[in-house]
Amino acid sequence: MSADPSAQAVRKLVRWFRDEGPDLPWRRTRDRWAVLVSEVMLQATPVARVLPYYETWMARWPRPGHLAAEPVGEAIAAWQGLGYPRRARNLHAAAGVVAAHGWPPPDRYRDLPGVGAYTADALRCFADELPVLPEDVNVARVIARRFPDGWPGAPRGRAWDAGQAMMDLGREFCRARAPRCDDGCPLRSGCPAADAGVVHEVTPRGRRQARYEGSMRQRRGFLLRALAEDGRARVDADPEAAESLLAEGLADRRGRLLVPAGSGR
Ligand code: SF4
Repeated sequence: MSADPSAQAVRKLVRWFRDEGPDLPWRRTRDRWAVLVSEVMLQATPVARVLPYYETWMARWPRPGHLAAEPVGEAIAAWQGLGYPRRARNLHAAAGVVAAHGWPPPDRYRDLPGVGAYTADALRCFADELPVLPEDVNVARVIARRFPDGWPGAPRGRAWDAGQAMMDLGREFCRARAPRCDDGCPLRSGCPAADAGVVHEVTPRGRRQARYEGSMRQRRGFLLRALAEDGRARVDADPEAAESLLAEGLADRRGRLLVPAGSGR
C-alpha cells in the first residue's frame, strides 16, 4: 500500500463516498446513453433540478434510437425549463449519430456532437470505468486546494468511485464560496490549502454567469416555452430572439410563426 499522503487521501475519499455518497439514478447504471444524458443535463444545472428531467427523459427515450426517431423539437420541448436548450439539440444530434453508427470508441467520444473534453472524460470514467478523472470546475477547485501537486490517480478499479467522490466533494464541501473545511470535509486532515489558511486564494476563477433578467437567454426562453406549450410562437413577438433561435436550429420558421425545430419534416 502506498505511503504517499495524496494517494492515501484518495483512498479515504473513496471510502467516504462508499459510505456517504448519495444514491442518484445515473449512479445505478453504466449505460453510456444514461451517463451522457445525465452529464449533459448536469452541466450548469443543479442535481435537484436535473432529477425529474432525467427520469422523464430516460423513461421516454431509454435508447438513443428512440430520441433520434423523433423531431428535434420534441427534445427541445422536453428540455423546457432546464436552460441552455442547445444542449437538447446536441443530445438529439448525438443520438442520431449513435443510432446510425453505434458508439465511437472511447478515445473518439469527442466526435459526437456537443461532446467536449469534459463530457468525453465523464463517459470514459462513469460509463466505461476507465482510469480517467473528469475535471469540471468543481473538481478543478478540489485539485487546486487539496492536491496541489496534481491528481495522484485512483486506486486500481476505483476510478468511477473516485470521480463521483470528487464531484460530491467539490459540490458539497470544497465550494467556491463558503467552503466547509471544518464542517465535515472528509479530506480536512492534511489539506494543504486549509492548513495554510489560503483556501479562498487557491480558487480557480469560474466564469461569471450573466444576469438572466432581461437577457437574451430569458427572451429566447419565453419563445421556447410558447413553442413547447402552444406548438408555435409569433416571430414579431421578439424578432431578435426569434432570429437567434432560428440561427441555432432551435426552431423553424413557417411564415410569421416559429414552429418546433424539425416539425413537419
Ligand atoms: S479542507 Fe477545505 S480546502 Fe481542503 S478539501 Fe476540504 S473543503 Fe477543500
